[in-house]
Amino acid sequence: MGLPEIAAACSFRAAFRARQVYHWLARGASSFDEMTDLPLAERERLSRLFPRIWSSQVASELEDEDGSLKLQLRLSDGAAVECVLLEDIEGRRTACLSSQVGCPMRCAFCKTGTLGYLRDLTPGEIMEQFHQLSSRRGQISNVVFMGMGEPMLNLSAVRAAIAILADPAGPGLSLRKITISTSGIVPGIIDLAERGPAVRLAVSIAAADDDLRSALMPVNRSHDLAALKTALLIYQEKTGERITLELPIMGNSNATVADAEALATWSRPLKVQVNVIPWNRVPELPFVEPTREQVEAYISELERTGLVATRRMRRGRGVMGACGQLGDTLRA
Ligand code: SF4
Repeated sequence: MGLPEIAAACSFRAAFRARQVYHWLARGASSFDEMTDLPLAERERLSRLFPRIWSSQVASELEDEDGSLKLQLRLSDGAAVECVLLEDIEGRRTACLSSQVGCPMRCAFCKTGTLGYLRDLTPGEIMEQFHQLSSRRGQISNVVFMGMGEPMLNLSAVRAAIAILADPAGPGLSLRKITISTSGIVPGIIDLAERGPAVRLAVSIAAADDDLRSALMPVNRSHDLAALKTALLIYQEKTGERITLELPIMGNSNATVADAEALATWSRPLKVQVNVIPWNRVPELPFVEPTREQVEAYISELERTGLVATRRMRRGRGVMGACGQLGDTLRA
């Protein structure tokens, strides 16, 4: 809720009361008792009016040996989503948030894609993932929309959540610490380029060959590699920002040196960095994890062509919370 909605819902006559409540909510308050700058009688009235502030409840908490935390949230209508807190060796905490219940994109290498799509999340449900993770692990420095769902298909709610995440009255994250990751929805990329916010953009590519990409990512049938590249060129022209290309590679599909070479050729003249993601095993999917030699040869080939390539650290695998694994406890 923004200020006018809060003022109306709480029947405030004074505008500053809505601002006070907004500040508490944006910082993750879960009860009116915490709002100590409101008079006691007002806190009691609001508690009677809204016995619960958060609409979701944590249904399960799983902690990996590497420190990653995966939460499953049960939403008010019984649907469920997962979110993950990843901590790197320097102690930076990144919240990986979901934007939809399930996902309609059906990428062949992704567990979430097998669940189908149920509905979009509201801005509040997105923020509750952030606050639930933060209440357990403390200050979060980065947010990535790489959880369940395609954020470009729920862009208005994602935008509303980002406005709160970046609000100095709330978590106050820099927009540069927030990343939207898309499977390649062309109108969404252009919309983001034109209307912002100026967050970082990551795009899953998987392959730079239309036939292979269509097999791995059905989105390619409606937004093919040529259309995607045009959209990314527009994005770069408008924002001047470097784009991250995400490359999930599977040992028996798209991990050859020729695949890397094709990617390097396709990506010219985009200004990109490539994040190679060794595929994380999902038992029911027909892929195998790439060998270390495959990953190294793939990255070497990208570097030989002058591309900046990094290898995604594997985190959260012990709780099925790594990239492409979300949804193992859910049935959409
Ligand atoms: S990779 Fe992302 S867009 Fe593709 S099915 Fe999984 S959650 Fe959806």
